[in-house]
Amino acid sequence: MPRTRVWKVDRDNPDPASVEEAAAIIVQGGLVAFPTETVYGLGADATCGPAVARIFRAKRRPMDNPIIVHVSCPDEVLPLVQKVDQTAEALMSRFWPGPLSILFRRSRRIPPEVTGGLDTVAIRCPDHPVALALIRAAGVPIGAPSANMSGRPSPTTAEHVLEDMEGRIEGLLDAGPTGVGLESTVVDLSCRPPVILRPGAISPEDLAPYLGEVRVADRSAGPPRSPGTKYVHYSPRARVVLVDGRPELLPPRVAELARHYSERGERVAVLCRSENVDCYQGALTLVLGPGNRPDLVARQLFARLREADLRGVTVVVAEGGFPRRGLGLAIMNRLEKASDEKITVSGGDGHGWG
Ligand code: AMP
Ligand code: MG
Repeated sequence: MPRTRVWKVDRDNPDPASVEEAAAIIVQGGLVAFPTETVYGLGADATCGPAVARIFRAKRRPMDNPIIVHVSCPDEVLPLVQKVDQTAEALMSRFWPGPLSILFRRSRRIPPEVTGGLDTVAIRCPDHPVALALIRAAGVPIGAPSANMSGRPSPTTAEHVLEDMEGRIEGLLDAGPTGVGLESTVVDLSCRPPVILRPGAISPEDLAPYLGEVRVADRSAGPPRSPGTKYVHYSPRARVVLVDGRPELLPPRVAELARHYSERGERVAVLCRSENVDCYQGALTLVLGPGNRPDLVARQLFARLREADLRGVTVVVAEGGFPRRGLGLAIMNRLEKASDEKITVSGGDGHGWG
């Protein structure tokens, strides 16, 4: 395939001619990466099985890992699903456009390639002017997983997309860094209580007023309901050791582990809060942002994991300990999935933290 065509566009006022060119590629069955408010997506016409199959080949994504369908407004959901119940209706009007993917029973307009053979389809409406303009210009729903090679950290900049996808896709709309930095929340309303299959910026606390009780899928409890959750994810090439526990207890243990691996000849980086950088003098630090700003931490997380790879790091020792509520739940989910090993530091009163 020839080089990937890149259109630089303004986030809030994208050049219509560039968007039209990108949309034409989608309509012809090609692949275009585009920004959303979460991460960059790798888009194809969601109603065209062969186009969607190309996404899986470009990403080397397992065929049974379904992808999310992006629409530009709630009305566009109707032809894609069997029915929209009141709860889904309420969630769409409250959280769309936004980082919430909702599972529906699929209609025949959705080819099996999109859903990995499942009879449900995940749909969302992204809160990003470029994504919305692309969907409208294409005139079809756009199926899009994150625009990274399968297993790698999701791309939050156009440069990240090119690192993985240059020459593997026809086009890329570049509108600068994404906002949230972590993938959408995925919610399944088909069971009681409803289940969050993947935590994201829309938290269980945000959903509770609409869903009552809501459960967060637990990896240890039976076979995964969201096929994607069984695969390695978000991982840099380096081995990631996650150190979890109350934030104030982490630095001594993290520093000790960093020294330990360095002495063994590993190239070590410490993934840490900005306020702790001084605790790791002499070590390479990858700074996430202030511990009390989960929004900034979420935005930096994948970029810092990719930086570890670019710098040839072989072991990342990562600070955990983000409170498991709000965006913190999604941050801890991604850190845990990126990690090969978790060490929990306990001390003091022996109770939880955060
Ligand atoms: P990505 O596109 O990389 O953000 O990944 C999409 C995520 O949504 C994966 O974890 C999928 O397993 C999940 N997903 C998409 N469609 C469905 C579905 N129909 N049922 C369950 N999970 C889904
Ligand atoms: Mg992904």
